[in-house]
Amino acid sequence: MSTTSPAGPAFDPSGQYRIDPETLGAQGRSFAVLLLHRRCASCWGTLLQQPAQGLDIEAEEHLEQVQAHCASAPDFIHSALPVMETLFRILLASGNQPMTAEELHVALRERWADPSNSRVPAPEAVARLLSRDAFYGIRPVSAPEGGRRSPA
Ligand SMILES: [Zn+2]
Repeated sequence: MSTTSPAGPAFDPSGQYRIDPETLGAQGRSFAVLLLHRRCASCWGTLLQQPAQGLDIEAEEHLEQVQAHCASAPDFIHSALPVMETLFRILLASGNQPMTAEELHVALRERWADPSNSRVPAPEAVARLLSRDAFYGIRPVSAPEGGRRSPA
């Protein structure tokens, strides 16, 4: 346990995060491929029968399917997943709507935590993890426009 350091970066509880496909692109990764790999087993049954095995599907369509279908599979989020992978999946399950560290923390508690442990990071720790992300393209949303929510 450590006390909060006043010298550390300020934690903004109202800051929101989302997956930025452009950041992924700049890192040489494709949002569509990341999404493809998170489609559920039943979707894969269909995808594997297609000529391109799903590789020709746009990120937007994957995201819709993941949100409407795959995210409700019981193993989409489970306690054995790494925390960053889980945060990524939580954002996918919400259709990549911007979420605050607090909202992500609550979702982790609901869907990821094992009842036998309490390793869910506090909102401040979630924000810190996200600020270090270099794989999932998760970025702070700059200048939220008066509660307007715009999808990817
Ligand atoms: Zn599915």
